[in-house]
Amino acid sequence: MSTGPRAIEADTLTTGGRRSDLRLFWRILRQARPYWLFVVGIFLLRLVATPLALLTPVPLKIAVDSVLGTDPLPGFLAAIVPETWQNSTTALLIFAAALVVAVAVLSRLETLGSKLLQTYTGEKLNFAFQTRLFNHAQRLSLSYHDNVGTADSIYRIQYDARSIRNAAIYGVIPFVVAGITLIAMFYVTARIDAQLAIVALSISPPIGFLTWLYRRRLRDKWRRVKSLESSALQVLQETLTSLAVVKAFGQEDREQERFETRYTESLQARLHVTATDGIFNMFVGLTTAGGAAVILFLGVTHVQEGVLTLGALLLIMSYVGQLYGPLKIIGTKVMSLQKALAGAERAYALLDQRPDVSERPHAIPVGRVAGDIALRGVSFSYENGPRVLSDISFEAGRGTRVGLAGRTGAGKSTLMTMLTRFHDPTDGEVLLDGVDLRDYKLADLRNQFAIVHQETILFSTSVAENIAYARPQATSHEIEAAAEAANAHGFIMRLPEGYDTLVGEKGMRLSGGERQRIALARAFLKDAPILILDEPTSSVDIGTEATIMEAMERLMNGRTTFMVAHRLGTLTNCDVLLILEEGRLERVTRDVVGAIQESQLLQSVER
Ligand code: ATP
Ligand code: MG
Repeated sequence: MSTGPRAIEADTLTTGGRRSDLRLFWRILRQARPYWLFVVGIFLLRLVATPLALLTPVPLKIAVDSVLGTDPLPGFLAAIVPETWQNSTTALLIFAAALVVAVAVLSRLETLGSKLLQTYTGEKLNFAFQTRLFNHAQRLSLSYHDNVGTADSIYRIQYDARSIRNAAIYGVIPFVVAGITLIAMFYVTARIDAQLAIVALSISPPIGFLTWLYRRRLRDKWRRVKSLESSALQVLQETLTSLAVVKAFGQEDREQERFETRYTESLQARLHVTATDGIFNMFVGLTTAGGAAVILFLGVTHVQEGVLTLGALLLIMSYVGQLYGPLKIIGTKVMSLQKALAGAERAYALLDQRPDVSERPHAIPVGRVAGDIALRGVSFSYENGPRVLSDISFEAGRGTRVGLAGRTGAGKSTLMTMLTRFHDPTDGEVLLDGVDLRDYKLADLRNQFAIVHQETILFSTSVAENIAYARPQATSHEIEAAAEAANAHGFIMRLPEGYDTLVGEKGMRLSGGERQRIALARAFLKDAPILILDEPTSSVDIGTEATIMEAMERLMNGRTTFMVAHRLGTLTNCDVLLILEEGRLERVTRDVVGAIQESQLLQSVER
C-alpha cells in the first residue's frame, strides 16, 4: 500500500479522461443525493427564469409595433388582453409599462429565491463533504500524514472540498438550465424568422470546438495551481508551527524567501489560468458578436423587404443577445467546472487513501483485557524503507514490567507502535490475551493502553481538560486525584488559574517536565490495563525525575508496563530487560540490575 506524496500526486495527474470524468460526476451526484429535493427545487426555480427572459423584450415590441405602429398584439397576448384595451393605444402603453415592472418583480423574486436555496443547499452539501473528509483524514495512518504533510490534507479539506458544491450547485445546474433556455429561445426565434434563427445557431459549433479545445488545458492548469498553493500553505504551516527552531537558527529571512518563492509560483500559475480563461471568453465573445452582426445585416434586409416588422427585428435582436447568454454560460460553465473538477479530483484522492491499519469485518469487541502480551517473529519496515524491526519474539505476562533499552534509532518507539496498532507488523504477529491484535475492534484495543509519549503534546485548552482528554466525563474530583497521583497537583495549584489555566498551543506555556506530569495524570485517569512509557523522564532534571518515578511506580502497580529509557538507572524496578540493537532483540534478561551494572561498567571501559 503506497501512500507517499508521489503516489497521491500521480493520482491527481493521471486522471482526466472522459471515463474518469464520468466517474467523478457520478461520485459528485452520489454525494449530492441526500439533497436531491433541494436540487430539484433550484432547478424548477431556475427554469421559471426562461419564460421570464422570453417576456423581457415583449413590452418593447408592443410599444413599437402596436402603440407606435398599427400591428395587432402577438397571438398569445391577444388571447389574454381584453378587447377594449387592445383598441386603445394609451391602455396598451400602460399595459406594456406594467409588463416591464411585473417581469422585473418576478425575475428578481426568482433570483432571490434560487440564490437562497442555492446557498443553503450548497453549504449543507459542502459541510457534509468536509466532515466526511475530516473524518477520513483522522483515520488515516500517522505515516500517511508524516509523508504527505498536514498542510496538504488541510488544503484538500478546506479548499478542494468546496469543489463538490461548486460543481454540483454552481456548475451543473446552470449548465442544464442554460441548455434548456437555449432550446426555448431557439424555438421562439425560429417561429418569428426561421432563417435568422438558423444563422444565430450556426455559431454553436465554433463555440463547441473552442470549449473542447480549452477544457483540457484549463483543467491541467487548475491542477497545477492547486498543487502549488497547497505547497505554499505548507511553508506557512511548517514555519509557524516550528517558530522556535526558525528563530534559534535565525532563518526568518530564508523562510520568508521560501514563502515568497512558492507564492510567486502559485501567483504566476493563477495568472496563467486567468489568461487562458480570459482568452477563451474573448473568442466566445467575438464569435457571438460575429453572429449578431450577420443577423443585424440580414434582419434589416428582411425588414426592408417587408418580411419582418421593425418590432419583430428588435425582438429578435434582443433574443439573439439572450440566446448567446446561455451559449456563453454553457461555455464558461464548462471552463469553471474544470476548476471544480480539478479540486474534486484532489478531494477524492484523499478519500481514496486507505488507512494502513483497518478493522476486520467481524472484529471482537472487548471490555478490559488482562494484559498478557506476546510477540511472535515480528518484523517491520516503514513503507519502502529498510527493516526497522527484525524477527522479534518475547512474552510478557499480565502485570509484568518490561524495560526496553537500546541505542537511539534502535527501534524502541517503533516496537511500541506495534502494540497499539499505530502500525501493523510486516511479518509476524502480536497477541494480547492470546488473540491477534488485528482481531480486536480498533477503538477497544486502543482503550487498553495508556501511553506517555517521548514528547508530550497537549491541546490548547485548560490543564483540567487536557488531563480529562482520556475520559471527558471525569469529574473535577477525579481529575485532581489523578493529578495528585502524578505529583502534578502542586505545580498546577501554583499556576495563575490552577486547573483552569490555558496551556497554550501544544502546551507550550508549560515546561517539558510539567507537560510530562500532565501526561502521567492523563494515564492515571485512563486507568488502562497496559501502560506504555516512552522515555517519560527524558526532559527533566534528576529531582523531578525522582518525583515522576515515584508517581510512575504507583501507576505501574498491577498493570503490564513497557518502559523505554536511555538512562538505564530508570529501569532498575523492571522485571525483564529487553535490549534492542538495530531492530534485533539483542538480549532478554530477568537479572535487570546485573545487566544494568554490567552495561554501565562496559560504558566506563569504552570511555
Ligand atoms: P530514540 O531512542 O532516539 O527514541 P528509537 O529506538 O525509539 O530511538 P525509532 O523511533 O523506533 O527509534 O526509529 C527506528 C528507526 O526507524 C530509525 O532509523 C528511524 O529513522 C526510522 N523511523 C522512525 N520513524 C519513521 C517514520 N515515520 N518513517 C520512516 N522511518 C522512520
Ligand atoms: Mg524513541
